[in-house]
Amino acid sequence: MTAQLIDGNALSKQLRAKVAADTAALKAKGLTPGLAVVLVGDNQASQVYVRNKVKACEDAGLHSVLEKYEATMSEADLLARVEALNHDDSIHGILVQLPLPAHIDAQKVIEAISPAKDVDGFHIASAGALMTGMPGFWPCTPYGCMKMLESIGYDLKGKHAVVIGRSNIVGKPMALMLLQKDATVTVAHSRTQNLKALTLQADVIVAAVGKRNVLTADMVKPGAVVLDVGMNRNDEGKLCGDVDFDGVKEVAGYITPVPGGVGPMTITMLLVNTLESAQRALSEKH
Ligand code: NAP
Repeated sequence: MTAQLIDGNALSKQLRAKVAADTAALKAKGLTPGLAVVLVGDNQASQVYVRNKVKACEDAGLHSVLEKYEATMSEADLLARVEALNHDDSIHGILVQLPLPAHIDAQKVIEAISPAKDVDGFHIASAGALMTGMPGFWPCTPYGCMKMLESIGYDLKGKHAVVIGRSNIVGKPMALMLLQKDATVTVAHSRTQNLKALTLQADVIVAAVGKRNVLTADMVKPGAVVLDVGMNRNDEGKLCGDVDFDGVKEVAGYITPVPGGVGPMTITMLLVNTLESAQRALSEKH
């Protein structure tokens, strides 16, 4: 059996076209959705990520501001910048790129972002909203995974989903989103015993670990849907996921590749959240 690919680039293109169309409609009503991206320090990977986020905004017609600061910026100064952006009516989403320099308390900075502009979905209020099923912003990576399942028309009701990884930005919110769609969810982590026994029962597997070959073909039930969030490098230095793609694709029903799978969806959902924040701001005005 050869699995069908869930193409994150193609789905992203489709969703970004819709964001661009909705942004144009909002602009016609006099409101341009705006995203502020704040980068502190000169982390190489972060610089690439923020550049991609700003470019994606521009391509979709959103307004974007990139604020870059020296690694020596004080926590107080960063908190003051976030507060100013909270009150800036041209900004509907605020993203502080992580990691922050060690002398800055990242959680404190995230909690300083207004939940109404927390388009990364990392604020405790956003996490609480997801947990209780209230309106709020969902973290972009697991939200992108949900869109991928939606794109293949997958009905999660009563299905067994196994999420491998329990981080606050991927694993835990992923589990809550799947639960909200009536899946029966198991969350595995580094202390989980006999992972294979769990994954073999799964209809859906989300791998969000950050280690190559965490999921191999012998661990997958024939026909299962496999979403690979991991971003790792193989021996040749090429980007790869957590899943042994070549083996698992012969067993799974659907699979996401790396690169070109979950990765592009993360920025796409950031645009979706920023647009939604602007739409909420407009409806609150009227
Ligand atoms: P993280 O915070 O390091 O969490 C990794 C999780 O994996 C932890 O819960 C850990 O368990 C668990 N784990 C570690 N070894 C394991 C094992 N052998 N078996 C089962 N579980 C194990 O990482 P993250 O931020 O969630 O990211 C996970 C991966 O996704 C990384 O490769 C990251 O680069 C990638 N990522 C991709 C995107 C994207 O846009 N595609 C976005 C975000 C993250 P414990 O809790 O017990 O330590």
